[in-house]
Amino acid sequence: MDIRVGDVLIMKKEHACKNNRMKVLRVGADFRLECEKCGHVFMIARYKCEKNIKTVVRGE
Ligand SMILES: [Zn+2]
Repeated sequence: MDIRVGDVLIMKKEHACKNNRMKVLRVGADFRLECEKCGHVFMIARYKCEKNIKTVVRGE
């Protein structure tokens, strides 16, 4: 799956704040994501994240 810094990931499972749009801050073996609604920043293993992605939005 092609994911780049700056992309927005629409997740299948929503965050605790009821938002499912996550901004990509860093990619690698782990992704650093920021919740677009509450601003929470967290790290997630790439394989776990990819399983949970519904759509990748680029160039917004
Ligand atoms: Zn959130």
